[in-house]
This record gives sequence, structure tokens and C-alpha cells, in this order.
Amino acid sequence: MSTVIPPTKRQCERCGRSEVWDEDQSTWVVAVENGTKEPGQPHCLHEWDINGSYNPFEGHS
Ligand SMILES: [Zn+2]
Repeated sequence: MSTVIPPTKRQCERCGRSEVWDEDQSTWVVAVENGTKEPGQPHCLHEWDINGSYNPFEGHS
């Protein structure tokens, strides 16, 4: 029996935006680190570097 653990944190490689997964809202929300939000750039075409094994951009360097 194996359990798939979904990613719970991701960061944009382009603008530095950090998000964490909110289970209650079932959506990504802006991460707050050291009391500061990391919203990045609103118009950035975010390229997520996701913690864990899940990577939708596999093959893209
Ligand atoms: Zn971005």
C-alpha cells in the first residue's frame, strides 16, 4: 500500500512567488514567510518549482 502525497508548496522560478496549498480552500495561496507575503509579479507566467516528486514541467530545464 502506497500513499501519494501531493505537493504542498511551490515557488515560481521566474519571479520568486511562493505559494502553499490550502486544504480548506482547495487552492494555492500566497505563502507568508517571516511575516512577509511573497506575491511575486502578478503578470508573471509562473514557472513553478514544486517541492516533492510531482513536476508538471518535467523535461524542461
Ligand atoms: Zn512567477
